[in-house]
Amino acid sequence: MAVERTLSILKPDATRRNLTGQINARLEAAGLRIVAQKRLWLTRAQAEAFYAVHAQRPFYNDLCTFMTSGPVVAQVLEGEDAVTRNRDVMGATNPANAAAGTIRKDFAESIEANSAHGSDSAENAAVEIAFFFSGLEIVG
Ligand code: GDP
Repeated sequence: MAVERTLSILKPDATRRNLTGQINARLEAAGLRIVAQKRLWLTRAQAEAFYAVHAQRPFYNDLCTFMTSGPVVAQVLEGEDAVTRNRDVMGATNPANAAAGTIRKDFAESIEANSAHGSDSAENAAVEIAFFFSGLEIVG
């Protein structure tokens, strides 16, 4: 295993219900360090650009509407095997399928409002981190 960085987003359903601290505690307990973090309200154009890979999916429009429905917290997580570790802590996309004790099992409202985003590969993590953060904003 190597020390990696991954992009995490605490989604509008999490900020709306004041859950960011509880979710951060789960991430930190799993050995992930929050080496950059900021709260922002995505514009429609920003959400569409971030999720451009899903542009052909039937849920793309709804997803962009949801992701612009309130503030999000974007963060860079650092740790051993951070990409996989974060996805393990998050759990499956659909909370109905998520394992016990995962963020999505315990906090998600639906397959769409599922509280957290995590990059799915080291390659995508690098692109997604650069979407939100400059190098100067990441303090390891
Ligand atoms: P992730 O990597 O686990 O976040 O899942 P995906 O990359 O497949 O999907 C991106 C995001 O789109 C998910 O986290 C959900 O917020 C949303 N999403 C995925 N599948 C569906 C779906 O079937 N319906 C709706 N409304 N949203 C979905």
